Amino acid sequence: MNSGSSITRAMTRDGSVRLVYAETTSIVERAHEIHKTAKTATAALGRCLTAASLMGSLLKDKKESLTLQIRGDGPIGTILCVSDYMGNVRGYAENPLAELPPNAQGKLDVGGAVGRGSLAVIRDLGEGEPYVGLSPLVSGEIGDDISQYYVTSEQTPTVCALGVRAATDCTCKAAGGFLLQMMPGADEALIPILERNVTALGSLSLLIENGRTAGEILAMIFEGIEYDVFDAYAVEYRCACSREKYKNALVSLGEEDMGELERAGTPVETECRFCGAKYVFPLTEILSARREKRAARKDNGEGE
Ligand SMILES: [Zn+2]
Repeated sequence: MNSGSSITRAMTRDGSVRLVYAETTSIVERAHEIHKTAKTATAALGRCLTAASLMGSLLKDKKESLTLQIRGDGPIGTILCVSDYMGNVRGYAENPLAELPPNAQGKLDVGGAVGRGSLAVIRDLGEGEPYVGLSPLVSGEIGDDISQYYVTSEQTPTVCALGVRAATDCTCKAAGGFLLQMMPGADEALIPILERNVTALGSLSLLIENGRTAGEILAMIFEGIEYDVFDAYAVEYRCACSREKYKNALVSLGEEDMGELERAGTPVETECRFCGAKYVFPLTEILSARREKRAARKDNGEGE
């Protein structure tokens, strides 16, 4: 069951509809291990990670990254997930211990945990100003909210389905999702067929838990329609942090903040919110790096 996560991309043969499918069980389980998420939070963060991975895989250039931020007023607080252009993701929830009783359908109450608010999609192109898209949350269930975002902010009719099954010990049993998008000038006759197929799927996470492969699930979504799979590849929970990055941030701190650290007089400890990695910096190391940076600036004639 705990095989690696993967993304599969396909298109109908007539070019009308694009499908990105992700199986993310191992990614969501990794997030649970790092953040010790409660059951409802495993599902909420897992859906958000899956959505970010799907959306990230649509980026065009390897310098680009995508941040999906769900800001609701529910007990889980803000959820933030970042994907690279392949769909490798990392993320966290403000309150990973958020837990609610099941909703009226007997399911994990992700909508209740997230609450009302807005969703932001930030595309960092690696240079210049990032592109930010915003839309209100429609249900907090995340799949519906992403579909709505594509319709209102990007004028792209989209169905986003996301599913996470969490066990009683809060671990992830199965997770996955897909984005189904109509391309400009799409054949509208496909819409009722796709709607019927997607409804017939039932619970996506249950299909994954039962061992259905990406190929089998794609065949179900596109039943009665000719399509081509154009790639399938592995993705993972991946953090881009390093000791060097944290050190650079400390070296660039303002004088006032640095003064505070010096007065405290203890080594500076940082912890990555995405992966929990801890880095410790003796004050002397930061101070001498700051001196070197100043000296280098003077040599370049930049002054202070
Ligand atoms: Zn990290």
